[in-house]
Amino acid sequence: DIQISEDVTFDTMLLTSNTLQGLKSSGFKKPSPIQLHGIPMGKCGFDLLLEAKSGTGKTAVFSVIALEKLNLDKGLQAVILAPTREIASQICDVIKQIGSYYKGLNIEVVMGGLPVQDDICKFKNKVHIVVGSPGRLRHLIQDKYIDVSAVRLLVLDEADKLMEKSFQSDIRFIFSILPKEKQVIMSSATYSEYAKDFITNYVQHSQHICPNTNCILLGVKQKITLVKYNSNIVRQTQYRFKELLRILTAKQFKQCLLFCNYQVRVAEVHKLLLQNKWPAEQLYGQQEQTDRLDALKTLQEYKCRILICSDLAARGIDASNVDLVINFEPPLEWQTYLHRIGRAGRFGSYGMSITILSEGKEEEKFKRMLILMKNTLNIKELWSDNDINFD
Ligand code: ADP
Ligand code: MG
Repeated sequence: DIQISEDVTFDTMLLTSNTLQGLKSSGFKKPSPIQLHGIPMGKCGFDLLLEAKSGTGKTAVFSVIALEKLNLDKGLQAVILAPTREIASQICDVIKQIGSYYKGLNIEVVMGGLPVQDDICKFKNKVHIVVGSPGRLRHLIQDKYIDVSAVRLLVLDEADKLMEKSFQSDIRFIFSILPKEKQVIMSSATYSEYAKDFITNYVQHSQHICPNTNCILLGVKQKITLVKYNSNIVRQTQYRFKELLRILTAKQFKQCLLFCNYQVRVAEVHKLLLQNKWPAEQLYGQQEQTDRLDALKTLQEYKCRILICSDLAARGIDASNVDLVINFEPPLEWQTYLHRIGRAGRFGSYGMSITILSEGKEEEKFKRMLILMKNTLNIKELWSDNDINFD
């Protein structure tokens, strides 16, 4: 394990002056641990498996590496894959920001859900970096709208999500059609055993960059709150909703992400909140693409305080003023739980998560899930200060 002094700044990392200026104007002064360890290794050309908790700046690691490798005279050189459209456009924004001193730099986002013709047009000009959803990218490459012969870098953000079945054939296609000599970077807060099996197909002799943290999500206080159980789903939702109103009234917060397990529930809770005079926006997979991006923008631009979402939004979304995450109902998997609560407490800020549980079975199941998470991740301390209370 390499020890790097904590005093290291971006200046000492031998980056080009364009990148340095870009980092500075993005407000990045000191590298986070994952940046400190990941950027130099990536610059050396190693395949990387980045593993660091949510909100620790993984995006900038592969963004900087992509920029540093770039030859602006050539065409497409980096392909970045992301599981959701929101994440893809966020990545694009970050690269544009950090890359703002690269004259003539062109980055495009391509995504399913928007007219393919629009995406095709983007490649009439020279594009250096493309960020996109696997399905749409495959389509464009397969139909020869994108020339990938100069690609040297492939990034998979939220890699463990991208290893899931629904993406597999698209990823396999893209991986094998890109030139053989390429660097591969995977990035995720968690890697399931399932994902690990597949990842080994794509990276070779990779460096696993996983800065030591004995406590995940240090900045997020995790709470649970119990409501009565009712076998009638309508009743149960009413109980949960009543508790939700109580929380929203009692707690001070800047912005809140509210997670539901199902899209129908998102719409349902959205309606109920509006009826109760709580302005809120909603975000779920079946929405029109432009509505989804709009909803996210309203949150990021502080035009709404509560965003209700399905797990589509649990990963990767970066809204720095979100300091409260509420689980209207517990997620089914601990990975999802981690990603959800990671939306509060981005980059060292402090936040709280509150999970609404019905008494009895659900409560027991949730506790078992937490223990499983703790054992799987092999961490001693899961909570910031024993702040999970089961009463
Ligand atoms: P991750 O992908 O690891 O969950 P992000 O890359 O989305 O995290 O970064 C989270 C937030 O931290 C973003 O708002 C980003 O602008 C900010 N950030 C990242 N690196 C730095 C840094 N070195 N200094 C200050 N802020 C940073
Ligand atoms: Mg991310």
